[in-house]
Amino acid sequence: MKRTILILITFAAVLYGVTDCKQNKNAVTKNSNGKINVTVTNFPPFDFVRNIAGDRVNLSMLLPPGAESHSFEPSPRDIIAIQNSDIFIYAGGESDAWVDRILESMDTDNMKILAMIDTVDAVEEEIVEGMEEEDEEEETAYDEHVWTSPQNAILIVRAIAELLCEADPANADFYRQNAAAYSEELARLDAAFNEVIAGAKRKTIVFADRFPFRYFADAYGLSYFAAFPGCSTETEPSAATVAFLINKIRAEKIPVVFHLELSNEKMADTISGETGAKKLLLHACHNINKRDFDAGLGYLDFMRRNVENLREALY
Ligand SMILES: [Zn+2]
Repeated sequence: MKRTILILITFAAVLYGVTDCKQNKNAVTKNSNGKINVTVTNFPPFDFVRNIAGDRVNLSMLLPPGAESHSFEPSPRDIIAIQNSDIFIYAGGESDAWVDRILESMDTDNMKILAMIDTVDAVEEEIVEGMEEEDEEEETAYDEHVWTSPQNAILIVRAIAELLCEADPANADFYRQNAAAYSEELARLDAAFNEVIAGAKRKTIVFADRFPFRYFADAYGLSYFAAFPGCSTETEPSAATVAFLINKIRAEKIPVVFHLELSNEKMADTISGETGAKKLLLHACHNINKRDFDAGLGYLDFMRRNVENLREALY
């Protein structure tokens, strides 16, 4: 992986060098249509920027819709897109460790860079009872799924709006207004989760999948059992892990077993079949499928469905 990235950087540098002479590096706006270029790695910042800036920026997401975010490797074209950005936004955790290596190789003087993980109180990935740890002797990493808590989303949106205003002051009022309106929607979403959890019969959820909802669970006082931590590359659980989750569901009479978006759902099917618990999606918004992307669905749409699915799981 490291070697691939090195080759890519070299390749992109050559490509970039070829076109470099045509560009004015000191220009505030790097694009011919007069709009600033905003590049993001995954779906949450894509949707946040879209809601704040509408069509007043050139916005591109590196991760294609439907693609698995944890195994993403940038193409030379992606590296050029980053190099040409006025604003570049990424999550800042384990999955995009490649970002730091690429940024080091670039001239980032005219670029505003935001790691979402730096905008919130980051916590480490947690290993709870019954969870499979990865074999690698890597130390526990900060959990990068900061956007899964709506309260964090409000902080991220604020940071993005500030960057947009700095990079493109002519549209600052527009960005501020949209950011305020969108943050109100996020606050309403937060209230909806609080309302569900306040009336809940139980506070435990079970995930037959990875668990990227650490920030979400912390925000609402939920406890959880899951097969793997947030960004585990494992998808095949051991028989002992599956048995542990089945026993938890039976012992606590938990009515729902959750799976993630873009997951193979095999483990959830097995556990649902064994226990009668209903299989439901809790959408972590790493990425969305092509159909939903083309339909223009966003973070709020998936999170509002999460409110309803959580209601089924906790009552
Ligand atoms: Zn993840």
